[in-house]
Amino acid sequence: MEDIVFNKLRQIYNEDQFLQNEPMSRHTTFRTGGPAALFLCPSEEAQLFVSISTLRESGEPFFVLGNGSNILVSDTGFNGTVISTAGLTGIKLEGEDRIRVSCGTLNSAIALFAKENSLAGFEFAAGIPGTIGGAMIMNAGAYGGEMKDITLEVRGLASDGKYKALSCEECEFAYRTSRLKREGFAVSSVLLQLTKGSQDEIKARMRDLALKRKEKQPLEYPSAGSTFKRPEGYFAGKLIEDAGLRGFSVGGAQVSEKHCGFVINKDNATSSDIYELICEVKRIVKDNSGVELEPEVIMLGEF
Ligand SMILES: Cc1cc2nc3c(=O)[nH]c(=O)nc-3n(C[C@H](O)[C@H](O)[C@H](O)COP(=O)(O)OP(=O)(O)OC[C@H]3O[C@@H](n4cnc5c(N)ncnc54)[C@H](O)[C@@H]3O)c2cc1C
Repeated sequence: MEDIVFNKLRQIYNEDQFLQNEPMSRHTTFRTGGPAALFLCPSEEAQLFVSISTLRESGEPFFVLGNGSNILVSDTGFNGTVISTAGLTGIKLEGEDRIRVSCGTLNSAIALFAKENSLAGFEFAAGIPGTIGGAMIMNAGAYGGEMKDITLEVRGLASDGKYKALSCEECEFAYRTSRLKREGFAVSSVLLQLTKGSQDEIKARMRDLALKRKEKQPLEYPSAGSTFKRPEGYFAGKLIEDAGLRGFSVGGAQVSEKHCGFVINKDNATSSDIYELICEVKRIVKDNSGVELEPEVIMLGEF
């Protein structure tokens, strides 16, 4: 990175918000990944915007990080800047049934807030272990709900450098993707539309879904959730199971025995182990069923 860019960024952060060679294994739910050359932790939206504009204008590679629950970072790390949104949190009630949320707020915190305010509609996302920013990019969903069902507006920095407020329609949400993802939109806050409901019913639904997750998913191991997107007309987990890959391992990475749709870090896996396992699963499933699996997990760095 050029000195002038480095110094400009250095000026707007405190020492503890400006880290060099930060191991990404500390910031991903796979618990793998080498260092990010620079790791920034803005605590104000202005820092996020200035950092992105500065890096974009100078052509420096950067990556906006939520909770790292859907990414695989190379063992050699990322030779660029990671901007973590972990310090950009906050939830505010707007009117009776809308909430404005800062991008780094965890879904679990939003679900709690919604429950406390007797607002229904967010229960499906309570167990998705990411931030609302990441949920918008991915149009995260579970148990019949998707972010697109409850999103009114997304604010942030568009790829042309302008601050914009996009309506739900303008976000073009689709299955585990969005226009935000395609165009590199940096999400700063989100307005969600929920509905007034019974607190007891909201609580019961959240408990019910949490139990389902615990029963079906290998939550006791590091992972990034479903490794592959659901191919149209199929379930990735079933295709993987039918190909005889339950428990299939490469190094410390394994196709979960509990849920074949999850690749887990079973025993000190490296990102290379996980990546090779993903490639092998793709190859064997293609041979076995003719179906091409597409990873849902986003790769960062060189593989
Ligand atoms: C145990 C487990 C269970 C899971 N279950 C589900 C599930 O049921 N449904 C589901 O959909 N997913 C699930 N996931 C996957 C993951 O939690 C979601 O994709 C989540 O929305 C990712 O959010 P994140 O904040 O961790 O994003 P990250 O993984 O940090 O990033 C994902 C993408 O979003 C981008 N991004 C993040 N924040 C911003 C921002 N503010 N502005 C711009 N870009 C941003 C990143 O650049 C990256 O491209 C699961 C994962 C795990 C580990």
